[in-house]
Amino acid sequence: MFLQLLLSSGLFMSELAIGTSFNSTQAPTGFPPCDALIQAGLGKSILLPTEPSYADRVDSYWSLNSRQHPFCIVQPRNAKEVATSMTALLGADKAGDWHIAIRSGGHNSGGANNIDNGVTIDLMHLDQATYDKETNLASVGPGAKWMDVYAKLAKHDVLVTGGRDGDVGVGGFLLGGGSTFFMGTEGFGCDAVKNYEIVLTNGTIVNANDKENSDLWLALKGGGSNFGIVTRYDMEALPNTKLSYKLRSINITHAVQIASNFVDFTDNYEKFTNDALVLYLTHNATIIKESMVGTIQVNTQGKINSTGFAKLDKIPDIKPAPYEHVTLAEAAAGSQVAGGVWMCEATLTFSNTKGLMKKAINMHEQYVKDLKKAIGEENFTTMFFFQPMPTMFGDISKKRGGNMIGFDLEEKNSVLWTAGVEIKTNQQDRIYAQSLMNKMAADLKSYSKSVGGATDLVYLNYADTTQDPLGSYGANNVNYLKRVAERYDPEELFQTRFPLGFKISSVDS
Ligand SMILES: Cc1cc2nc3c(=O)[nH]c(=O)nc-3n(C[C@H](O)[C@H](O)[C@H](O)COP(=O)(O)OP(=O)(O)OC[C@H]3O[C@@H](n4cnc5c(N)ncnc54)[C@H](O)[C@@H]3O)c2cc1C
Repeated sequence: MFLQLLLSSGLFMSELAIGTSFNSTQAPTGFPPCDALIQAGLGKSILLPTEPSYADRVDSYWSLNSRQHPFCIVQPRNAKEVATSMTALLGADKAGDWHIAIRSGGHNSGGANNIDNGVTIDLMHLDQATYDKETNLASVGPGAKWMDVYAKLAKHDVLVTGGRDGDVGVGGFLLGGGSTFFMGTEGFGCDAVKNYEIVLTNGTIVNANDKENSDLWLALKGGGSNFGIVTRYDMEALPNTKLSYKLRSINITHAVQIASNFVDFTDNYEKFTNDALVLYLTHNATIIKESMVGTIQVNTQGKINSTGFAKLDKIPDIKPAPYEHVTLAEAAAGSQVAGGVWMCEATLTFSNTKGLMKKAINMHEQYVKDLKKAIGEENFTTMFFFQPMPTMFGDISKKRGGNMIGFDLEEKNSVLWTAGVEIKTNQQDRIYAQSLMNKMAADLKSYSKSVGGATDLVYLNYADTTQDPLGSYGANNVNYLKRVAERYDPEELFQTRFPLGFKISSVDS
């Protein structure tokens, strides 16, 4: 009877779980880290699996890979509550096998933003986007989506250099670098960050900028999730000009000609610094049986028919698409790749040559053929992206204070190649598609080496979990990141208790 009473009151569970008496008024959960959060006063900020909004929040992750089920989800309302969550979770009994995940926008497709065995810190409430005219800084919360950031900043007639897909989140995007429409004049998204507010593992909230904790400021620019939880990014703002913007669909028979134009565009980037070009190959048999080429052609100053695109524009569209004048907010809101599928991804860079582009196009066609045979043509969609990476991007980053990506060391103009495949069936097919993709990426890498066209960068934001983006930054940057991680997190708690994503402690020096 006494035991029954204890069980029904939940007291017995908490005694077992945390080994101390439970003094919160909220019923204990039986999960030590969730109970530690409740005891720290964060009971109202926790979502438990028994609540309907828990399932909604899990379903709001972009890819199925990420829709895992933590013991509980804590949703702090401000930096102070992030610090309290950090202290409570790191102070909880760590016996057993559980860990901590961090989520900002939830767009990472490899599952590094959620966890089954543990607790997820969900930064959704840290979603502000404010502007200070005096400093020309926009203060942006990690949990915001780029389309909302742009819409809020547009009220002040400014923009920041963020994501192109409106549904992508701020937090992960900027920690990985951030490839944007503004690369030709502004470098990576992270190059615009003048100050980071970050919660360290010792529970303190610090700023990192060129005067205060400047080593941490530099390390955070492309150094990934290795130092603490970033709670605010203060970014240099730009005037909110309208973009000239065109999305095109082109017959696959023109692929090699377009690739050749892409190479010329990249080699001449310094003449068209306000232009941005993204080229992609896609196969979606539910729409059309053959593959197609797509381009995104943008001029960030609203110039229609920029001469940078003159040659490309001579190639006919499947359905003519005019240039439009749109704000960045409109472009981002209108460009949201639908989620809810299993994702495979891989990325690398190679020299900007027509031969390597042609090889990559042929590999896409072979990949489609192999995957059709294995899982059926209706069950997947490919999207293989090519983005210009001229050395001038590295020069811009360097002038703005530098970053960790190591692209300033690159001597040749490169192409950023990213393979993405959506799998509509199941996890088993996903693993099969990922193994084919890994093999293709390895073949493309060794082919590029064989023709003297290999380059180092593995871009963090597009990397598969088996790749080593931090290692691709070069030995000096790897050692720098290790030193900074050690200085701000001497007990390596962020490396061990927050194990998801690319951790600098796993990279060889
Ligand atoms: C459709 C699509 C379009 C994309 N477009 C672009 C693009 O144009 N340019 C580009 O560069 N990338 C792009 N990406 C990649 C995107 O930048 C990454 O997936 C990025 O991680 C997403 O940011 P998020 O805030 O949504 O991250 P989340 O998925 O929430 O987190 C990503 C990682 O960062 C960690 N993290 C997140 N926030 C914090 C924080 N505040 N402190 C510490 N660690 C944190 C997480 O734990 C996780 O490991 C795209 C991805 C997709 C699927």
